Amino acid sequence: MATIKIYHKNPYTKEFKANITKIDQKPGKEVHIKLNQTAFYPEGGGQPCDLGFIGDFRVKNVFEKDGEIYHVLEDIPKQFENLSCRIDWNRRFDFMQQHLGQHILSASFEKLFEAATIGFHLTENNLTVDIDKQLCHKDLDRVEYFSNQIVFGNLNVKTHYPSNDSELASFPLRKDVAAYANPRIVEIDQFDYSPCGGIHPKHTGEVGMIKMTNYSTHHDGLRIEFVCGNRALKDYAEKTHVLSTLKSELSCSENSLPARCKGMKEDFKEIVSKYKNTTDKLLTYQVDEMFGKSRVHNNHRIVSYIFETDSAKETSILTSKVLKKDSSAILILVCPTTNLTTVLLASSPSENPLNLNLVLKGLLEKYDGKGGGKAHYAQGIINGEVVYEELIHYLYSKIALELEKLMAKQTR
Ligand SMILES: [Zn+2]
Repeated sequence: MATIKIYHKNPYTKEFKANITKIDQKPGKEVHIKLNQTAFYPEGGGQPCDLGFIGDFRVKNVFEKDGEIYHVLEDIPKQFENLSCRIDWNRRFDFMQQHLGQHILSASFEKLFEAATIGFHLTENNLTVDIDKQLCHKDLDRVEYFSNQIVFGNLNVKTHYPSNDSELASFPLRKDVAAYANPRIVEIDQFDYSPCGGIHPKHTGEVGMIKMTNYSTHHDGLRIEFVCGNRALKDYAEKTHVLSTLKSELSCSENSLPARCKGMKEDFKEIVSKYKNTTDKLLTYQVDEMFGKSRVHNNHRIVSYIFETDSAKETSILTSKVLKKDSSAILILVCPTTNLTTVLLASSPSENPLNLNLVLKGLLEKYDGKGGGKAHYAQGIINGEVVYEELIHYLYSKIALELEKLMAKQTR
């Protein structure tokens, strides 16, 4: 015997009594049960299923297969008859609000701009419709206003079960009915007629409000994100909180927020530009200072520096400035930060005489550091406290010695 669909007869039923008429359980798997009647809506038509309790067991899923409605439980209830069943009403009413909101919004797109709905997605956290036309922001505002007038008009929502094709043909349907066997027509009081098996409130006023929150291009049309009812209230509350925080942080009124943000963005751009110029000048002075203290060994200038920065970008700029000033230079940089020291060796790839990676390796072994690189560029990290001058002295001596050895080889 087919299960009586209480959800269609009375969509406001939250609790009901039912008898189990069939149980399917494969060993180790969840239990699928059939009831003589149910208020649990199975997933379908874009509306997710109801959850709740049957007896003491939580309903994990409800689905329809071959015309039968199955409730998924973790185990078999002890009692088979007159079981107390309860649906999660907050979840259900939320879906009812969103679902009817979608009917109203889709009908409004159709009536104002002949834009057809080609997709609809409803989950616990997401609600979208896809339309087949590109519309501008002003058009969307018009649709939103119009659809909310339908909500505020509190129109009756009725359902029809046409008994034959001619009765079916008498309804001015918004979408094709071909895909529906035994169609159920949902009418919003002469405003919209749509074939749908989902659950809707009895009056449009229960949708509360329809608010579009975002839109983006989707195929040749648009995907519109929106919220209805309690979701709209929650969204409004969250946005009000964000605005209050911004007003307080920026010490200005709500209306002046956009201008304040624009001004701050321009100020920030100017500050960044000035900072870049100042940093560049400062690094140029530093390079000059480094060169003043440097010495030449076998036609290569060894430049060393304790560079107190944690900015990889500044290190990179300083390195390129040194190698640009003297392409034969070999750079030793020691960059101290809290509990950590970065050591960098660099030279121009085209004029590099030594394997700097090997030189660095010797230092890292001595100080238990980590790192590596290439012959012309190597970088390592040493944890804990070190004397920076000692690191420089080790690397300088090693590089100078290697350069001397190289010169001896060349003059032989
Ligand atoms: Zn519907």
